[in-house]
Amino acid sequence: VPGEVVGFVRGLVGSFESFAQQRGLTYGFEAALSTLYVEFDADKLEKVLINLLSNAFKFTPKGGEVTVQLRAEAAPELDAHSMWVELMVRDTGCGIAPAHMPHVFDRFYQVDSTDTREQEGTGIGLALSKELMVLHGGTITLASEVGQGTRVVVRLPLPLAATSTVPVTAATGPAVEHAQLAAS
Ligand code: ATP
Ligand code: MG
Repeated sequence: VPGEVVGFVRGLVGSFESFAQQRGLTYGFEAALSTLYVEFDADKLEKVLINLLSNAFKFTPKGGEVTVQLRAEAAPELDAHSMWVELMVRDTGCGIAPAHMPHVFDRFYQVDSTDTREQEGTGIGLALSKELMVLHGGTITLASEVGQGTRVVVRLPLPLAATSTVPVTAATGPAVEHAQLAAS
């Protein structure tokens, strides 16, 4: 469905603002462009972003930072009318040890799966996110360092929307912006 993806992501990120504040996290959204009209599946994008945010919030202690970045670039290797849309969720949390890295996208895999672990979950979030991305021709990659944090990058090829089919909405911000959503 054609739509404006930057505002969509900004709104979704913003809906977790008070949650992040409650957890004592600095939380922000950075977009390299203010509007982008593409064909995209809002439900799937929402599922993936919520999974990544829930991980970032779960595994980042109070006082840490969670940042979402969005950017886009032309995808001439695909066709003249598609963009690579890249979403990154970055945190300053506990990180993942190298030995666990090859398994984090496996179904039900959790670094700490003991009954006493503080974080809830079933180990399905990343597996599901990867399935959704791969199904749509995208990629998902995770980089992490113990004690430093984790960054997950999702890249999705999306066809530009024919502007005639897209309702005109007001531009929502400057071309480059850095909105700090929660007081730090
Ligand atoms: P669910 O997503 O089903 O609620 P989950 O969050 O444990 O459960 P995944 O999202 O698939 O499962 O993540 C798998 C495991 O990878 C997690 O249990 C955790 O050990 C590790 N992990 C994922 N994201 C992060 C992160 N941002 N920081 C540190 N560890 C992470
Ligand atoms: Mg999860």
